[in-house]
Amino acid sequence: MSEFLLVHEPGFRLAAFLGVLVAMMVWELAAPRRRREIPRLIRWTNNLALVALDTAVLRLSFPVLAVGLAGMAEAKGWGLFNVIEVPRWFAFVGAILILDLAIYLQHVMFHAVPGLWRLHRMHHADLDFDATTGLRFHPIEILLSMAIKLAVVGAIGAPAIAVLAFEVILNAASLFNHSNITLRPGLDRVLRLVLVTPDMHRVHHSVDPRETNSNFGFSVPWWDRLLGTYVAQPAKGHDRMEIGIEQFRTPRDLWLDRMLIQPLRGPASGGALDPRTYRR
Ligand SMILES: [Zn+2]
Ligand SMILES: [Zn+2]
Repeated sequence: MSEFLLVHEPGFRLAAFLGVLVAMMVWELAAPRRRREIPRLIRWTNNLALVALDTAVLRLSFPVLAVGLAGMAEAKGWGLFNVIEVPRWFAFVGAILILDLAIYLQHVMFHAVPGLWRLHRMHHADLDFDATTGLRFHPIEILLSMAIKLAVVGAIGAPAIAVLAFEVILNAASLFNHSNITLRPGLDRVLRLVLVTPDMHRVHHSVDPRETNSNFGFSVPWWDRLLGTYVAQPAKGHDRMEIGIEQFRTPRDLWLDRMLIQPLRGPASGGALDPRTYRR
């Protein structure tokens, strides 16, 4: 089974991606959480065009991606889990958790270092919050993120099937936790024990920098709880909170060409280490 999945990796991942994306879009239509401010056409076309561009840039830039490198490491005996004797399930679960922690720490770093915040704030500049927001990352952030992932995969000798599972889970989790859906408060509370819910991640997209610089997790909520970056709810409530960042607030800023040059525009204010961020 795992052999089959690894051989058909691109097709399998594309099917999982499209399946979850369409499911979330239907769910958003059926039970929306907030009223949309911007017409879907502008945001969906530009956000989806960005994903296509990101995917092309990624495939052309790296000779091998995370799952491929994990396969090579397994064959050649590189990395921690390929050197020590551990049960397969332990390496599988361990690799997924270590990769998820690495992504959390990377996310904190992209908020803290001003030059990296310039790249990552594009994700935050979306003026509405729905499943397609979860796909909105600058191509250079995508490349840096893959370089970090490759380093972690190589160092820990993650099993290829674990890396594939991690990539699919991360992608599905991102589509889910950015979606504009209503979950009953009781259900949200239970889900939040194991999963980042849309209400939890929406706090991270608040225009208030104290809230922007919280809830960095993408899949599991444990790193935020454990490391002190967890904020349960937005101060103004989910209906009244403002989405986005102060800097880019016109519909024209949502177009692909503007998104790509955003890192070069204006000061790098609003990041976690900017002393002006919390002075109000
Ligand atoms: Zn962020
Ligand atoms: Zn986000």
